[in-house]
Amino acid sequence: MDQKIIEKIHEIVGETWVVTDTEKVTVYCEDQTEKAVMPKVCTDCVVAKPSSSEEVSEILKYANKNKIPVIARGGGTSLSGAAVAIMPSIIISTERMNKIIEVDETALTVECEAGVTLLQLVELFSKHESLYFPIHPGDEGAQVGGLVAMNAGGVRAVRYGVMRDQVKEIEVVLPTGEIIHFGGKLIKNNAGLDLKNLIIGSEGILGIVTKATLSLKPKDKYTGSLLVSFNDENDAVKSVTEIFKRGIRPLAVEYMEKSSILRAAKDIGMTWPSKEGKVDLYFIVSERKEDDLYDMYETIVGICEENNAADSFVAESTRDQKNILDIRSHVYPSMHDEMVDAIDAAVPISELVKYVNGIAVIAEKYNVEISTIGHIGDGNMHNSILNKGAVKPSNYDELVDEIFSLIIKCNGALTGEHGIGKVRNSKLKFQFSDVELRLMNDIKKIFDPNGILNPGTAI
Ligand SMILES: Cc1cc2nc3c(=O)[nH]c(=O)nc-3n(C[C@H](O)[C@H](O)[C@H](O)COP(=O)(O)OP(=O)(O)OC[C@H]3O[C@@H](n4cnc5c(N)ncnc54)[C@H](O)[C@@H]3O)c2cc1C
Repeated sequence: MDQKIIEKIHEIVGETWVVTDTEKVTVYCEDQTEKAVMPKVCTDCVVAKPSSSEEVSEILKYANKNKIPVIARGGGTSLSGAAVAIMPSIIISTERMNKIIEVDETALTVECEAGVTLLQLVELFSKHESLYFPIHPGDEGAQVGGLVAMNAGGVRAVRYGVMRDQVKEIEVVLPTGEIIHFGGKLIKNNAGLDLKNLIIGSEGILGIVTKATLSLKPKDKYTGSLLVSFNDENDAVKSVTEIFKRGIRPLAVEYMEKSSILRAAKDIGMTWPSKEGKVDLYFIVSERKEDDLYDMYETIVGICEENNAADSFVAESTRDQKNILDIRSHVYPSMHDEMVDAIDAAVPISELVKYVNGIAVIAEKYNVEISTIGHIGDGNMHNSILNKGAVKPSNYDELVDEIFSLIIKCNGALTGEHGIGKVRNSKLKFQFSDVELRLMNDIKKIFDPNGILNPGTAI
């Protein structure tokens, strides 16, 4: 990295807050994307750790004037290569901008700087009597700026929606250095074009989020979970659609192939509570009144039994619930040595049967193991392509293209929550017309005429 650039960054944020040592810089140049599909990493970068929006603005003014690529960096937990540096760049890490500014108990919001981690929010609201922040993707190291930029989802989206449904207001620094605010603590707001929602999910290519005001939800007093096993995946999927048809909204509904969950349990020396069946549905149920919780258990089990459930298990104790969650969280790590890629399909609930059956046909055709677990309650399925040594199978490109064609045949989206990043942008044509792609590129040019922000990402 050019010494002049490093000196300028020293001037803006102070020498202590600049990283140039290659080993330390490398950590900031990669994310959690599987190695087999991660784009080629460039470590010729400088990491700046600003403490304020004004410092972010100064860096962007300088980079824009000199046409230097810039990547905003949160917790580095992205799974789509969005945070990966692929060319010499200034990496702006928001880790020092980690203040929780205000909890507003009237508007039911929390205002944070972009570097606040999900863990900070979880810890803060675990002590709060009645409110919490509902979004919980798997990794608590993710930061608010990253959650906004990736429009994160997670298990509770089935009841509360995704990040876009929680963000009330954002402060954004444009590539020109201008600091602007979009949105507000409003319930209704119909004025002008919705630029706030354009920034959310834009994967850091339109501006750098420096603050966000997020909505909070009331805590339910009674929470429990229920595990139901099925011998046939179609029966599991039909149970979920039937549960929704009857107006029931659990906090989360997860779909897990038994073989994957048993492998995870074995890996960490734990026991999965159900041995029956080929797939499990895991329901997290949360209600204000105890009677409502038991009513919900009964109705869900009843519907699952009507659809040939093989077994069910109510996890009432905190210990049982924790065991299930610990094993569920270990599914990805347990597959890590064989994981080539994790597809993040989103399909309408009505198309889930077609999608799940289509994946089984593709796995057989290509003679490859595809492990499926997912947030079935919102139609977001994660299909992990496994191969010995996590090496791409020789027919990998055809295989993945066939999966993307299936997603589109099911009226779905290429990604439900992990984003396009730098891993899937060559696949956008599966989902979007030339006109849509042109509009996206034109919007990028309006925000970022010199193309400095996270080049090669999202579009
Ligand atoms: C084990 C595991 C489980 C996961 N489960 C889920 C899940 O269930 N649901 C889900 O949605 N995701 C999940 N993820 C993915 C990941 O946690 C989310 O994408 C998260 O939102 C990324 O946040 P981050 O701070 O780590 O962002 P980073 O990885 O640092 O960055 C991701 C992108 O956001 C941009 N960005 C970061 N900060 C800013 C900012 N301040 N302004 C503008 N752009 C910015 C970056 O430039 C990059 O393009 C999981 C990841 C892991 C490792």
